[in-house]
This record gives sequence, C-alpha cells and structure tokens, in this order.
Amino acid sequence: MNETKNNIAVTFIDEPQFTDAAKGVAKKEIVNQELAAPSLLQRLGDLMQAKRSAIQKIQWFVVLFYFTLLIWPAFLPLPKDYVHFYDNLILLAQFIFWGIWWPFVMLSMVLIGRVWCGVFCPEGALSEWSSRRGLARLAPRWMRWGGWPFVAFVSTTVYGQLISVYEYPKAAFLILGGSTVAAMIVGFIYGRGKRVWCRHLCPANGVFSLLSRLAPVHFNVETAKWKTTQRLNYAIDCPPILNVRNKVGNSDCHMCGRCSGYRDAVKLDVRSPNQEVLSINNKTQNPWDIALLFFGLLGVATGAFQWSASPWFVQLKQSLAEWFINHDYYALLDSNAPWWILTHYPDTNDVFSYLDGLSILLYIFTTALAVSSLLLLGLWFASIVLKETKNISSVDLTNVKTALIWHLGYAFIPLAGASLFLGLSSLTFTMLKAEHLNIIGIMPARIILLVLAYLWSGYLLSKKIIAFNVSPTRKILAFSALFGASLLVAFSWVEMFFIW
Ligand code: SF4
Repeated sequence: MNETKNNIAVTFIDEPQFTDAAKGVAKKEIVNQELAAPSLLQRLGDLMQAKRSAIQKIQWFVVLFYFTLLIWPAFLPLPKDYVHFYDNLILLAQFIFWGIWWPFVMLSMVLIGRVWCGVFCPEGALSEWSSRRGLARLAPRWMRWGGWPFVAFVSTTVYGQLISVYEYPKAAFLILGGSTVAAMIVGFIYGRGKRVWCRHLCPANGVFSLLSRLAPVHFNVETAKWKTTQRLNYAIDCPPILNVRNKVGNSDCHMCGRCSGYRDAVKLDVRSPNQEVLSINNKTQNPWDIALLFFGLLGVATGAFQWSASPWFVQLKQSLAEWFINHDYYALLDSNAPWWILTHYPDTNDVFSYLDGLSILLYIFTTALAVSSLLLLGLWFASIVLKETKNISSVDLTNVKTALIWHLGYAFIPLAGASLFLGLSSLTFTMLKAEHLNIIGIMPARIILLVLAYLWSGYLLSKKIIAFNVSPTRKILAFSALFGASLLVAFSWVEMFFIW
C-alpha cells in the first residue's frame, strides 16, 4: 500500500517489538535531547528532506549541463592549432570534466560524504527516474556480487587510458555516455524507483564508498530513539535501498537527506573523520574493499596517471619493439585500431599502435601488482605478528588463524584519496600550464598533501594496531611492515613530480 509524503512514494513497513525497560531508558534520553535546540546541520538535513523538489530541480539542471558538455563536443572538429580552453567548447568541456569536476567530486567525498551521489549526480538521477517508470524487477544475484565495484573501476580506468578519455570528447562520450545509458537501462529493468545501478554496478561506487568513510558529517541514526518513537505509516524512500534503521556508516549512504528527521531518530550530524575506519573490524571488513584500495586506487589509478610521464614506459615500449622486430613480428606495430579500441586521431597526429596499447596495459598492471603485492605482503606479515596473541582486547579475531586481518588496510584510505587527488589535479595543472598560467606553490602543496595523507594513514594504522593485545615490539613490527610497504606510492609520486 502506498502513500505520499512530500511528494515521495512510500510504503508501509513492519514494526519490531521492544521491552518496556528499553523504551524507558531511551525515552529519558529522548527527553534530554528534545530540550536541546536542533543544530544547524540537523536543520540543513531536515531542509533537504523537506525540499525534495528543489533537489530534483538541481539534479535536472546538472543533467542538462552534463549532456551539453558530453554530447555537443563529441560532434565538433578537434582543434588543430593552439586555442584557449575558454574559446573552444571541446577544451572547455575537457577542463570542466577532468580539471575541475572530477577532482573536486573526489575531494567532496572526504569532506561531505556522498552528497554528490544524492544531490548532484546526473547518472544516479536518470537511473532513478527510469526506475520509477520501469519493470521494477528485483536485482538478480549476479548483480549483487561484491566484486563489481573493483571490476568496474579497474576496467573503466584502464579502458579510459587506452582511448585517451581525458583528451578526446568522443572517448568521454563513449565511456561516460555508455555508463549513463547502462544506468538508465538497469534502472528501467530493476528496482521500484530506486538506484540499483548506483548500489551495485556504478564504476565509481567503490571509490566513493571508501572515501566517504572519512567524511566528518553523516546522517546519524539514533537506534534507541527509533525504537521508542511512534511508528510512522510510511517507509523511507532510500535511493540505494539501505536498511536505514541499522545504518552505521557513510559508505553506502548517498546523503540525499530523505530520511532526515524520520521518527525523530535520523539527523545530519558531525563525527570524527576517523570513526568509521576505526570501527571496522574483522567481522565488518570486506576483502573486496581492500582489493579496490590496494590494487585499484593505489595501483591501477597511480599507474594510469603516471605512464605518460614515465621514462620507464618509453624504455618498456622500446624493448618490446626491438624484441618484436628481432623476431620478425610486425603486426603489433600497426596502428589501425579504431578510436574506440585504441586512441586514433590522425588529424592531430595522435595514434596508438597495438604496441602502445600493450605497453600501457603492462605498465599499469605492473605498477598495480608491485604496489598491491607489497601492501599485501605487509598485511600478511602484520597478520602473522598480530595473530599470535592469546588475549584480544577490543578486536574480535575469531577467524584470524585462517584469514588476513584485512581491516588494517582501511587505514590507507587517506593515502588513496590523496593519491587520486594528486593524479587528477595534475591534469588540471597541465591544462592551466597550456594556457601559460603558472600557479605558484603547486609543488609545496603536493608535498604537504602527501605528508598529511601519510600522517593520517599512519595514525589510523597505529590506532588499529594498538587495539591488539600483543607486545609493543610486535605492534611496531606490524606497523613498520605495512607502513613501509605503502611508501612505494610516495616513491612513485616523488619520481613523477621531481625526477622525471
Ligand atoms: S540513508 Fe538513504 S535516505 Fe538516508 S540519506 Fe542515506 S541514502 Fe538518503
């Protein structure tokens, strides 16, 4: 049975039973809280809930803006001579998409959680819109596989490099537009007005889920209050289909505000940016998160940002070319692949051979394997050192004899966020440099960002390791192994910015 509240389609839900004692304790707490005036943040959350139609207008405006920047430039001729980005729609779209939009979306995840997803994302809005008109099927089991965020991120990142997504509007149109069409099709088939695509298949979902764990704001759910306040005859229209009552973190929440004020138990609130990462233990850890973090963000993304500046890439390509020529094998030296397989723009003298493509793949995956295997080695060593303990204070190590302590890896989210921002912002600065705009202080800012990220990750790692009841020597060994392994990422950025 459906009802409507603030133009939101809602459905009835079941109400659990609670003891009188539990209700009494919670009611006392509620009375105290009711005496306090709502905070500014709480009011902002409630405003988001009340002004849903305004948020929808924002979403449609972003959809229009997104389509203009995505579609129009793809059908314009490429500039052959030097032009300013503000004089050419192709360059302007490139600068806005990759120079401003994308780096600051990543930054926003760390600062305000997934507000981008819930309020601005055109793809999410379109997927939900088509889902309201679609077949309302249940998401199949294959779609709910936990490895999709990892697979989707790695494959789109690598494919984007092969077709030069940052440089050419047709490539951006193919990758971003293809993703939007897929989001709408999935929305049309699955879910009843929900964002099944965003929840399971969006290529950015895994990254956003990791970075948003650091956000100092969240929609806090006061479970005690929820239990004791009067039952409402509608459920929350949560786009990513979360069980809001049991929501404990930011990772899947789109910060859309639709649950704000529900049963007086949900409110936008501040929290420690370390809270969520430190609360993950071996029961709530997800090895796919760590695969995405180590291999995807710290490995694949780093390799993708760096290959074009790397002298090692040139050496690799030359060695491969010599080897193929010495073995009379010339097919890979051809450069006749279409633009949607490998970069192919003869008008601007930018054509990739198959050898280029192979070298890019080898470079990116070698970087990813080097970074992730070193970190995994550190994790394995730390797990060995920490698991030989009898008494554990606050960490449940029930399964530690057979598994790695994956949750230590979450400590590197700040480092991954900084690494992504360094890579994306280097595109921004390259574009500005092409305009002869030299921004002062870039290098010190990069160093400061990297140092702060390491300090933050080091702090999180030490807090997690301190929770184990082992000797200080073991703790130092575990910390050194993991933290030391992560230094390869710093080394790669130092190489890129100061040596190459
Ligand atoms: S829990 Fe759901 S409804 Fe509430 S803010 Fe997050 S995404 Fe929106």
